[in-house]
Amino acid sequence: MLPFGHLSVSYLSGTIFKKAPIPALLMGGILPDIDFLFINYPFFNHIHRLWTHNFLFILLAAVIIGGLFNQPYRFKAISGLFIGGLLHLVIDACMDANPTNGIGVPFLWPFDSTCFSPFNLLKLSDSTSGWNDKIAMIKLSLYGLLYEIPLYIAALLVFVQKREKRIRTAAPPQ
Ligand SMILES: [Zn+2]
Repeated sequence: MLPFGHLSVSYLSGTIFKKAPIPALLMGGILPDIDFLFINYPFFNHIHRLWTHNFLFILLAAVIIGGLFNQPYRFKAISGLFIGGLLHLVIDACMDANPTNGIGVPFLWPFDSTCFSPFNLLKLSDSTSGWNDKIAMIKLSLYGLLYEIPLYIAALLVFVQKREKRIRTAAPPQ
């Protein structure tokens, strides 16, 4: 899923997890893909969806980043970051076009490297290069837009609805 897709899911999850701050959900939702910082290194395909796509990483990241906030915001920030990260992992487990580094997500890494995927919505790439052929991988990721565009629209509708509600609440009585 592209970053905007993960951000849309995180934003929409704020309608369910109402106590989790939206910025924390959004940050948690894109944090696992921080491994893209290494995209230009030859080892990237091997480590992508490994070091940063597991329970341990999202828990540590949530505690470290959320821990920077003072009480009473600390617990809410940690929860939001963790929920956002968890949603990212679940989505990636169901949307994986690259079979060269395993299908799905190794939730239990570093204790167990087995990738878990309950089902896969994406067509698998025929390429054996994985992310070493960036253009092919990006093209393949674009098929995921079929699933992502409705999420973009839903997130936009919720955003507009919340904005109108805020404006109505802030408007002085007539
Ligand atoms: Zn990811």
